[in-house]
Amino acid sequence: MSTPFKIAAIPGDGIGKEVMPEGLRVLEAAARRFDIPLEFTQIDWASCDHYAKTGQMMPDDWKAQLQGHDAIYFGAVGWPATVPDHVSLWGSLLKFRREFDQYINLRPARLFEGVPCPLAGRKAGDIDFMIVRENTEGEYTNLGGVMYEGTEREIVIQESVFSRFGADRVLKYAFELAQSRQRKHLTVATKSNGIAISMPWWDKRADAVGADFPEVTVDKQHIDILSARFVLQPSRFDVVVASNLFGDILSDLGPACTGTIGLAPSANLNPERRFPSLFEPVHGSAPDIYGKNIANPVAMIWSGALMLHFLGRRDAHDAIVKAIERVLIEGPRTGDLGGSASTTEMGKAIAALI
Ligand code: ATP
Ligand code: MG
Repeated sequence: MSTPFKIAAIPGDGIGKEVMPEGLRVLEAAARRFDIPLEFTQIDWASCDHYAKTGQMMPDDWKAQLQGHDAIYFGAVGWPATVPDHVSLWGSLLKFRREFDQYINLRPARLFEGVPCPLAGRKAGDIDFMIVRENTEGEYTNLGGVMYEGTEREIVIQESVFSRFGADRVLKYAFELAQSRQRKHLTVATKSNGIAISMPWWDKRADAVGADFPEVTVDKQHIDILSARFVLQPSRFDVVVASNLFGDILSDLGPACTGTIGLAPSANLNPERRFPSLFEPVHGSAPDIYGKNIANPVAMIWSGALMLHFLGRRDAHDAIVKAIERVLIEGPRTGDLGGSASTTEMGKAIAALI
């Protein structure tokens, strides 16, 4: 038997605790069917419950406890009634992203059959693309400050920081991803007509990195028209790569074009696997529906499929996605999809198909 993949399972808060068991159920089914050795560490910190007990989101040695795992499978974090969102977020998820150098944020946007699309006239297959967001630099820095604060002369400056190292590694990942897909097409989000220093430079880095990928066709689109095309012509896209800010916006807009937030998965990757990568649903802890067993478990389950793909098990990924496809068509479906099934029923149905 080969060395097991070590997965840290962190349910977190709210519906994270309800969808996690369904994610694990499906992963375990896939592990049996495809003979994949998975070893789970169950972790109850990185949660607001832990904060209530200890006054911090995670123990001091969190990094040592997680290092050595191949991946982190994460539910959701946040319980604003007791812990402010910035405390819960900065005390857990954002620490993982930074300290584990998860410089790729990957989000698929795909319209499934059986899921009502908010865009009129779209059918399954019309929307099927991946968004690659730079996750560590760009527009999101704390460099800058305020002068003459509180006076009429008040001035505020916040810098963007792009490095050749940071841009090249995300561009390379995006080109490789495009190369691995059937259409082999990459859209580079830019704004070189308005942001006249960093964005023309970003375009040049895309050309330089792209020189190694002659099979990939590339188009650069300004972020404004690109956003409009997500809505108006989503079938144009295959892989989209963007800086931190543009990617942040696109990675909410893309999945929003494909129906309920209960479906959307995401991955935060350290592709070299020096540190664990993290796989989580896009949705949050949803306090408004927690405790009723009605949350849609698909985003969690699909995130698990992305995790197996990342670990090199495309066979298991594809089987999970096929099972999701079928259950979305045939049911059982949760309330957000117009059905009346529970979280557990939907998770069990997907697991049973694997
Ligand atoms: P974030 O934690 O990213 O700040 P949020 O707290 O604003 O997100 P969510 O927790 O994602 O938002 O919830 C937004 C809305 O979507 C809520 O009304 C919630 O009930 C609904 N929702 C979220 N996830 C699911 C799910 N898995 N199934 C059904 N409904 C969901
Ligand atoms: Mg929230």
